Amino acid sequence: MTRAGIERLLSASPIAELAAERGIELRPLGPELLVGRCPRHAGAVGRSLLVERVSGRFRCLVCGLRGGNAIGLVMHTDALPFLPAVLKLAGRAGLDLDALLVEPARLEPAPSEVPEWALTPPVGLSADVVAHVCGEASC
Ligand SMILES: [Zn+2]
Repeated sequence: MTRAGIERLLSASPIAELAAERGIELRPLGPELLVGRCPRHAGAVGRSLLVERVSGRFRCLVCGLRGGNAIGLVMHTDALPFLPAVLKLAGRAGLDLDALLVEPARLEPAPSEVPEWALTPPVGLSADVVAHVCGEASC
């Protein structure tokens, strides 16, 4: 899992949306904080779960539950280890896990990255011969 892959997953997984899907309604508490009910004691009255809007870090003032970002929230609320939580979020966001495992820049090499040897015929063969190794008469 690359850092870029994690960042793509997180940008496709807003923590407020994930919380809402789990019955945790987050309300604004100032410009940088959201507040809602902690998943550990959902029945309790009061709002003790503070979530930083930008970083997604969260902390419960009552039970001390804490963590960071959408993956951490899913790990807590769905009782999953890290990788299954990542898989769940990738499935939710419709992201291809294979694509997350490599650097996005490596998915489609820029034209300048195509090696020289791939553009020129092997030594000893004319371009004409190389063009017809496919066997197609119309090639
Ligand atoms: Zn709590």
